[in-house]
Amino acid sequence: MHWGNNLKRLQVDMTSYCNAKCGACARNLQGGQTLPGLKLQHFSLDVWEKLAQDTAGKINQLYLNGNWGDPGMHPHLIPMMETWIKYHRKSDIVICTNGSMHKPDWWGELATVLNGYRHRVQVSIDGIGKDHALYRRNTDYNRIIENFKKFNANGGNSEWRMTLWDYNLNYIDKAKALATMLGFCWFSTRRNHSPNGTCMMNDDEGNYEYTITSNEAKNISLITENLPTLEYRQNARTHQDSHNESRCPWYNMSEVQIDPFHKVWPCCNISIYGIPEYHETEFDRNELPSNDFNSLEKHSIYNILEHHWYNNILSNAIDNASYEVCRNNCSLR
Ligand code: SF4
Ligand code: SF4
Repeated sequence: MHWGNNLKRLQVDMTSYCNAKCGACARNLQGGQTLPGLKLQHFSLDVWEKLAQDTAGKINQLYLNGNWGDPGMHPHLIPMMETWIKYHRKSDIVICTNGSMHKPDWWGELATVLNGYRHRVQVSIDGIGKDHALYRRNTDYNRIIENFKKFNANGGNSEWRMTLWDYNLNYIDKAKALATMLGFCWFSTRRNHSPNGTCMMNDDEGNYEYTITSNEAKNISLITENLPTLEYRQNARTHQDSHNESRCPWYNMSEVQIDPFHKVWPCCNISIYGIPEYHETEFDRNELPSNDFNSLEKHSIYNILEHHWYNNILSNAIDNASYEVCRNNCSLR
């Protein structure tokens, strides 16, 4: 495995700020208090420009998604997209968001910037009306709809994504019809990532509030549908090739993850261990060379991906299925 030569996709966690408190998200304690000790930080504009410059013309897809925050919370997201486009006029941009921050004009401006380039903004809307926020706590359904009316009207390519729970199954058809009417390009459903398919919600003091389940939802077939608006859009390509050269799905997608603290990780599963306050135990942080070996503040991305940890230690661990995190998340045996 050679991680530098392989690189074609970047997944970037632009910030550790979020307005929402989704129940199964690592950044909060069961839909309540933010993970104690989580450093709140936005991706630096200087590091961003250098990253865009260093990778100019070599990246097929930029995917803004992550473990610790929502890209819409970065105060400079729009100029950062302009910077990216300056160096990467042909790459796909995919932005994953809860869509409940800012006002419609901000979303209209984002659409205007992305409009002439390949892009897709995926917004999580998990039901109609107030029920949407049963899982996506602290977000506002009506605000999201107003924001995306404007985004769509300004030529933005958007996808309505519904995370399935038992409570929202009866909204699927209505949501798809609404997505069509409001000018979304795609409508899709996806599984939740909650262990055992249930999610217990607590308030900020840690008091239990309610539980949502997916007993029925886990058996529903998932869909991704093109909606009529797509026919009028020019820049909607999102298909990405993969290969079969390793046992690691991220390597096969030629992708790595960068966290809001400018560290480069092989995937989102290992990236989460970059935060010392995260207490799961499926990856031993002592496996990592030093705090700074993967920092874009100290090295270029290609220098990081040349490090022997990537090309020897990690690659051998993947070949031999010796990391528990790989066995648990990617079924390596
Ligand atoms: S919107 Fe994303 S980052 Fe924010 S709480 Fe929900 S899952 Fe976590
Ligand atoms: S957990 Fe391991 S096998 Fe899975 S994507 Fe990450 S590095 Fe690859």
